[in-house]
Amino acid sequence: MDYTAILERIRDDVQPLLGKGRVADYIPQLGKVRPDHFGMALVTLDGRCHAVGDATVPFSIQSISKLFACTLAFQLLGEDLWQRVGREPSGNAFNSLVQLEYEQGLPRNPFINAGALVVTDVLCSRFVQAESALVQFLRRLCGKDGIDYDGEVARSELAHADRNLAMAHFMKSFGRIEMPVQAVIDAYCRQCAITMSCEELARAALFLANGGVVPWSGERVLAPSPTKRLSALMLTCGTYDEAGDFVYRVGLPAKSGVGGGIVAVLPRRWAVCVWSPGLDHSGNSLAGVQALEWLTTLTGQSIF
Ligand code: GLU
Repeated sequence: MDYTAILERIRDDVQPLLGKGRVADYIPQLGKVRPDHFGMALVTLDGRCHAVGDATVPFSIQSISKLFACTLAFQLLGEDLWQRVGREPSGNAFNSLVQLEYEQGLPRNPFINAGALVVTDVLCSRFVQAESALVQFLRRLCGKDGIDYDGEVARSELAHADRNLAMAHFMKSFGRIEMPVQAVIDAYCRQCAITMSCEELARAALFLANGGVVPWSGERVLAPSPTKRLSALMLTCGTYDEAGDFVYRVGLPAKSGVGGGIVAVLPRRWAVCVWSPGLDHSGNSLAGVQALEWLTTLTGQSIF
């Protein structure tokens, strides 16, 4: 399969969509990103990377961090993690508060903000600095030492974190958050502000396509069964309130973020990351979803 040729065709075909959609600006620092970026990188299990466009340009991974934070928490707690957070799509916006009240503060899944805050709470209770543990983990996953969070983006989000603070306080009132709320929010904002490129994110997600093992280092991140379960959660809950439409169009487990990145995996073959900051109405990258739809169509490869 000539993945490079396919990615080049996708890059050309996606041009009319670049600059369309809305760059997330509720975190002011994110609003400064040029909307017409496009990058895509696909890494196969043998470590070969096929990339086009801005595939090496670092961007704010935002909610994609929830995938890796959840992986760490799943490593630490195993199945007990699901006492703290559910596994169902929420059918609500990623930052919605309504469901939490009638479900006694138990978040629907780890990929909406409420669930991710519980996951970060787990990490805060285990590590002196949860965000540093996550950064170290990501460095190991993709084999790159330079990965870190962007202090400006973290401060920008912290200054506008009222809704996440409200959510965390609300869950604490139900006994769902163990650590001090401010510590959890600080760590959460820093984890969302981690910057990585498409190439780095595709490499970091490759263990999911490889039964839980990082191909180049041999590190076992998760056993095969939890790897399957985490991928299943990505399929049902990884792309905001549009996961049904996303999987209809793309046919891959994926996790997106409001920075415009989307990571997706094809078990036993490859991991891919696409980035374009213009978002559709649901918060997924407009050009990114289209690019992934073309990828699975042109290659004939998806989980179905
Ligand atoms: N840091 C963002 C927030 O909590 C993450 C949003 C996202 O990428 O979904 O609002």
